[in-house]
Amino acid sequence: MSVDAAKHGQMPKQIHLLYETILQDYRRIIGDEFDENFANVLEHLSTSFETTEEQIGAETNMPFKEIRRILYKLYDLRIATYRTIRDPHTGYFSFLWKLLPLKYSFATFKHKALLTIKKLEERIEYERNNTLYHCGMNRCPRLSFDQAVEAKFKCPMCTKPLQLVDNDKIVNSLRNKIRELEKDVENISKSLSENGFAIS
Ligand SMILES: [Zn+2]
Repeated sequence: MSVDAAKHGQMPKQIHLLYETILQDYRRIIGDEFDENFANVLEHLSTSFETTEEQIGAETNMPFKEIRRILYKLYDLRIATYRTIRDPHTGYFSFLWKLLPLKYSFATFKHKALLTIKKLEERIEYERNNTLYHCGMNRCPRLSFDQAVEAKFKCPMCTKPLQLVDNDKIVNSLRNKIRELEKDVENISKSLSENGFAIS
């Protein structure tokens, strides 16, 4: 198949109609890195046709380096996939990109989210079961009670006095992170069951 043959026509209408909802799901999966450029690239990908970096570049005016960076990030997150074809005349390879069905990206996201939640819960357990001491300097470590006794309640790094750490704040922020992740999983799952017919 040549690059020309891979050129696509219009984006299927159904995807356009659902685009805003789906974009929200991708934003959740991609996280903080998500920005206008991600939205632009995503808008030019589809589960039903393949496209090249060159086509995305021509349609968005984004630099290839940025397009490539985003495409590989989408590949890592199992949002998009590609195959390579070789032009028989020039010998050059082209990458043909396609969106994976959202359910695949979501499965990967959910798996990672559950692992993260487990780690955060372990962190909370640790914070709640340990009395920790700290000097207040960001670059210095927190010490256990035994370590603090050994250091005579002076920070071994900067020699400032060690204070008991009030870790309620840390526990709360960890709990918030867990809640956010759970909400993201729930929202994407809901969106999939509502719109899945059109995007899987
Ligand atoms: Zn210190």
